[in-house]
Amino acid sequence: MSAVDQPDVRSTVPVRDDLRDVAPYGAPQYDVAVRLNTNETAESPPAAFLATVAERIRSLELNRYPDRPHRALRAAIAARHEVDRETVWAANGSNEVLLQLLQAYGGPDRTALYVRPGYSMYPELCRTTLTRAVEVDLDDRFELSPTVAADAAAEHDPDLILLPSPNNPVGTPVGHDAIRTLHDRSRALLVVDEAYVEFAPTGTSVVPLLGELPRLVVVRTFSKAFRLAGLRLGYLLGAPWVVQDVQKVRLPYHLDQLTQVAGLVALEQEDDFLAHREGIASERERMRTHLEQHTRLEVAPSAANFLLVRAPEDGLFDRLLDHGVLVRDFSSKPRLERCIRVTVGTPEENDAFLAAIDTVLGDVASA
Ligand SMILES: *Cc1c(COP(=O)(O)O)cnc(C)c1O
Repeated sequence: MSAVDQPDVRSTVPVRDDLRDVAPYGAPQYDVAVRLNTNETAESPPAAFLATVAERIRSLELNRYPDRPHRALRAAIAARHEVDRETVWAANGSNEVLLQLLQAYGGPDRTALYVRPGYSMYPELCRTTLTRAVEVDLDDRFELSPTVAADAAAEHDPDLILLPSPNNPVGTPVGHDAIRTLHDRSRALLVVDEAYVEFAPTGTSVVPLLGELPRLVVVRTFSKAFRLAGLRLGYLLGAPWVVQDVQKVRLPYHLDQLTQVAGLVALEQEDDFLAHREGIASERERMRTHLEQHTRLEVAPSAANFLLVRAPEDGLFDRLLDHGVLVRDFSSKPRLERCIRVTVGTPEENDAFLAAIDTVLGDVASA
């Protein structure tokens, strides 16, 4: 045993009390043939993308620090949404954007409110930043009732409200009326996390409400519909004072030159990047139709690239894994008893998932 492993050495520098029993966050990964567990896009970025990026990075001066306020990238994002560059801020994945928001507006004596079921990173971000967390339940149809939301906001007086729309893991979007009510009935920074919005029907995004609701912040990512989960790039749109405040907590030069260039190229090729979305939507509905033949399964509505499925009994996750199909297990989460979430993959991967479901459930052999 080396000196650093000895328990008495460790006890002189114990990890923070609240982290002692914490496991590092992340979906379990297994080396199996079909992995439909992290909501990435199965298809690679367009062929031209890497070639263009390779060409552009030849002229970078990597001995120099990157442009700290990443002005060119922010200008390109601003052009995409027809907003001002001063209202745009990017970081290494939308998770880092969310962390910076929690660092700037959360912390000791501050409260963040979020919905349940919801994105499992929000509790983690609250814990890391020592922010008090308050959970509000979605209704039985996994929707956020404006009155429930407004009552919770009045009762808990949150500093921040975090809403994934479409929701992860459920797939339902939050209605604009609920967003307006929450904004009007609270003093909170209202953060709408639109990680999956490119898959949702037109009109789902709350970006058009930014002019009307001054404390609204919209968070976006390149990890899902943009097929660039390996890049680590996300951004926010919000008031200029929000962009100024997050700069008080960001690390200097947090966004490296390679990421800035790759993000710019992706935005230039946006139409090619997003062309696959119709295929995802039709595969999702094909999977839903197939799953619904199993009358004992419940499939939640989804405007995203995944489906939440409730099984008739425990153990679906393990039994799918036995058939070489990895999905995400939510069965131990409150309100998600017996639920798995499956990402829409390639047609072949989806077929493998559906075949595994048929075998496991065995009740539509003749369907
Ligand atoms: C996947 C996901 C993200 C994306 O995180 P990145 O750090 O941008 O990869 C953000 N929010 C939700 C709700 C997600 O499901």
